[in-house]
Amino acid sequence: MKILVTNDDGIYSPGLAALAKVATRFGEVIIVAPNVEQSSASHAITASRPLTFKKSPILFEGIEAHKVDGTPADCVALGMYLAPDIELVLSGINMGPNLGNAIWHSGTLAAAKQATLFGIRGIAFSTPTKNAEPDFELLSPFVEEAIRILLDNSHMKLVNVNLPYRPTGIKWTRQSVQFYDGQIVEGQDPMGRKHYWFTVKPLDAAEPNSDRWALLNGFVSMTPLRLDLTNEDELNKVLVTQTTSSVETPEVPH
Ligand code: MN
Repeated sequence: MKILVTNDDGIYSPGLAALAKVATRFGEVIIVAPNVEQSSASHAITASRPLTFKKSPILFEGIEAHKVDGTPADCVALGMYLAPDIELVLSGINMGPNLGNAIWHSGTLAAAKQATLFGIRGIAFSTPTKNAEPDFELLSPFVEEAIRILLDNSHMKLVNVNLPYRPTGIKWTRQSVQFYDGQIVEGQDPMGRKHYWFTVKPLDAAEPNSDRWALLNGFVSMTPLRLDLTNEDELNKVLVTQTTSSVETPEVPH
């Protein structure tokens, strides 16, 4: 199996090296990663200029590696162009968790989403860095176990995996939706000009069996995700009462 490994922290991140190393146990690995950090780039694609890449052979001996002047989603698109037989995309291991509503701005997860858009499987990996450096030696067996579980569950196309500092097990979870307080904090630069930091603070306690709950309790969190954002409940409600619109669409001349 050919596996593309990417991230949003950039090609020099130790998390990328750790994930690539584990990935070699499952197949042939190709690394295609951003040349600079692209954290919080979400699912941006580079559409207004061409993309270029350079080989990056020294960092990853024995693994084909490319650094791209683009976003995580670009890296997956370009990687799949370079190697169309890729069957799995692994993204991470991100230096920082991607829990709850952070999924919306995560570049790590966007790379996995891009794989799913192309019809192959994508798995995102993230771990906290706030209180200590991640111990990738300690995390690697859990990353390997998570990949093995997900390869056995082939119907899962997109999965968000978060690892605590010292995991004690693995749990299936749902996305926490009570974790967002995106606040702008004002400051001043040395020239006296105002500047603004975007910060995210926890609001409420983590819901049981959510991704945040799992990490707080020392478990690796695995959340299956989907790309269809349709609100089924709301759609079903309006479909029941749906009436024909009174606004008529004008006929388009042929
Ligand atoms: Mn990142």
